[in-house]
Amino acid sequence: MWSTMQDFPLTITTIMRFAGRVFGESEVITWTGDGAPRRQDWTRLGERAARLAGALRGLGVDGDQRVATFMWNNAEHLEAYLAVPSMGAVLHTLNLRLFPDQLVYIANHAEDRVVIADGSLIPLLAPVLPRMKTVRHVIVVGEGDTAPLAEAGKELHSYEELLAAAPAGFDWPEIDERSAAAMCYTSGTTGNPKGVVYSHRSAYLHSMAAATGNALALDATDRVLPVVPMFHANAWGLPYAALMAGSSLVMPDRFLQAEPLVKLIETERPTIAGAVPTIWADVLRHTREHGSDLSSLRLVPCGGSAVPESLMRGFDEIGVKIVQAWGMTETSPLATVAHPPVGAGDADAWRARISQGRILAGLEMRIVGDGDVVLPHDGEAVGEVQIRGPWITAAYHLDEDPARFHDGWLRTGDVGTLSPDGYLVLTDRAKDVIKSGGEWISSVELENRLMAHPDVLEAAVIGVPDDRWQERPLASVVVRDGATVTADLLKDFLTGLIPKWQLPERWTFIEEVPKTSVGKFSKKTIRQWYADGELE
Ligand code: ADP
Repeated sequence: MWSTMQDFPLTITTIMRFAGRVFGESEVITWTGDGAPRRQDWTRLGERAARLAGALRGLGVDGDQRVATFMWNNAEHLEAYLAVPSMGAVLHTLNLRLFPDQLVYIANHAEDRVVIADGSLIPLLAPVLPRMKTVRHVIVVGEGDTAPLAEAGKELHSYEELLAAAPAGFDWPEIDERSAAAMCYTSGTTGNPKGVVYSHRSAYLHSMAAATGNALALDATDRVLPVVPMFHANAWGLPYAALMAGSSLVMPDRFLQAEPLVKLIETERPTIAGAVPTIWADVLRHTREHGSDLSSLRLVPCGGSAVPESLMRGFDEIGVKIVQAWGMTETSPLATVAHPPVGAGDADAWRARISQGRILAGLEMRIVGDGDVVLPHDGEAVGEVQIRGPWITAAYHLDEDPARFHDGWLRTGDVGTLSPDGYLVLTDRAKDVIKSGGEWISSVELENRLMAHPDVLEAAVIGVPDDRWQERPLASVVVRDGATVTADLLKDFLTGLIPKWQLPERWTFIEEVPKTSVGKFSKKTIRQWYADGELE
């Protein structure tokens, strides 16, 4: 028999209405560098989102047309987060750190019709805009010389002028919860970027899961600082989750270096701040040097790549708790969060904290070995991580990739173990695993061990061909200024911490580990350097 419950759609429109009505006094605060931060309450946020929707409709945006953003994390970007999906259109957040050719590829592939761009980013947009074939309109937010855009043959508009001229309210349409709300391309470590299209339903359920106690435990006393860009997997879903929980949002805009971030934290006192490990490593260094005050932070969700234990311990020392989370663009992204089990002693708590975390309710995960054999959840058996659930993508946008989808599961490309009580431990990405003499060496384990050395700032380990062993690890290490660290000293340091046969015999000292467009170690670049003989 059917239930007696209403079939009420789960939509971003509902989140928007709720936030504006119930938590109208909560704020979105945008950092401006040296000037006073811009403050906007959520009543006003809702009003401006309605005007933006009206303005976009006025430009001819209809149906499920794509509206792209080329923006920092700020109030206007949040307005687009609400207006575009709620009017039935699809928000496409462009990653402004992509290479020009990739940007052109994804804008054309998504068939973006409008680009809302920050004035400060015009120099990045101008060279690629003429090649964005489907784009008709560019809406410029804030100050910026628009002259370089003039040649592209698009209609140019000022964001504030459009909003001022738009009607005060908007007749929000009824939306099927399964329809597209937003899309995001994975940063494409191999081949072309792939488009993941989030539905209203998936965004809604993901936000609820993010707000629960086993994830971030958000409520109206929180102030959430998404340092992770709004163009990267919807800033880990933090904006929508915060709107649901009534938590004010503190936006860093373009000020993403350690110094302004610390100043922002000291001034606006966020309680939650999410960013990748490289950002927090810089913030920790700065905080130690200047004795800064990060005490407002009750929880720092961190992920995107493995979070070194040394980083977590460093934050513990200044009284701030990092919680590791794992996910990917394909998983909306939050899938696991590494809170320790209740009543765990110190050793068990740390084992849990350095894991990728416990799966969130609503999702299912399994570990699969060669020949599609499902392996036990015993914390020992190593295989590919597969996942399914209501906020996990089932396909890529207009791009067949059967290798990634199997039997209703997403093949994540990550390799690891699952413990009986649901903690995921990643040992590697499938393509980064080092196969030495038939055994696997975890590059992540070696990197974490190396980065625990007090003089090592960064370490990236790749597998390089070896006549005898098939592959051996090559460690690329960045040392602290003025430190005298040698390969032999580091080998001594690792001895006893990892099996002897895993000790790298190839070492190179570099100035900085190259990063991808979303701030992860780019092992692809290191492999290229190696292939080009630049690391000898
Ligand atoms: P890309 O695949 O382009 O890097 P994503 O940003 O979606 O795009 O990255 C997802 C991947 O990031 C995961 O598959 C995983 O390899 C890695 N990752 C995310 N969080 C963690 C974490 N906490 N520990 C280790 N790896 C992580």
